[in-house]
Amino acid sequence: MVTFDSDDPGTSAGEWRQDPRWGSVPALTIAGVRHLVVLAAHPDDETLGAGGLIARAVEHGVEVTVVVVTDGSGDPSAPVGVRVPDAAVRAAEAEAAMAELGVVDLRLLGFRDGAVREERDDIAVAVHEILRSAGAAPDTLVVAPWPGDGHRDHRVLGEIVADVARRVGRRLWQYPIWMWHWATPSHPDVPWGTFAAVPLSRPETTAKGTALGRYVSQTEGERPMLHARFLQHFAHDVEVFVVAHGG
Ligand SMILES: [Zn+2]
Repeated sequence: MVTFDSDDPGTSAGEWRQDPRWGSVPALTIAGVRHLVVLAAHPDDETLGAGGLIARAVEHGVEVTVVVVTDGSGDPSAPVGVRVPDAAVRAAEAEAAMAELGVVDLRLLGFRDGAVREERDDIAVAVHEILRSAGAAPDTLVVAPWPGDGHRDHRVLGEIVADVARRVGRRLWQYPIWMWHWATPSHPDVPWGTFAAVPLSRPETTAKGTALGRYVSQTEGERPMLHARFLQHFAHDVEVFVVAHGG
């Protein structure tokens, strides 16, 4: 289990981008996908991890469902002094962000922030119902947090979705968020062998940035949860996923 402080400067986006291994990371497409289901532990993870992919899917007429599992009302592990927004603020921000990306089907499950492990069984039931009803296997792409991300809610939700996706036979791509911050490119836990990337167009990158800007409670203020240096990881014109079984 990785522990990290979101207040730390973290690894720079530039250090990641310079790594020569990106040259051999395969590209992903959404050809043949008719339904994209993106799961997030907290409001903003879906945009950080897959905002460009969501924009592309909407543009291509793919049905998109975004599921945010917790209410984002304050992770007990957040650094002291970080402003804790209430659930209504986070919900309104998620709705505004998804409106920017053209997502109509946003589901806020409202579980307690920081308690994905404690609520694991109920969340698994909800995820199972959503994935089971999401259409046939090759047509549906599921996107969820990468369990190695080092944040407990991300890890546990990632494990739940991986388990359910395997049981109901759905394709799964996993997005890292905090790995970009706590790991360096040479860290042994970085899954280079299963990385794959979606190169984003300029409109897709722009749409992602605009949607992220709607999460004011997370990105602005004196000590934002997501500081400017961290956000540089998500201003890139590529989104990286961990694709374990050929995608
Ligand atoms: Zn999160």
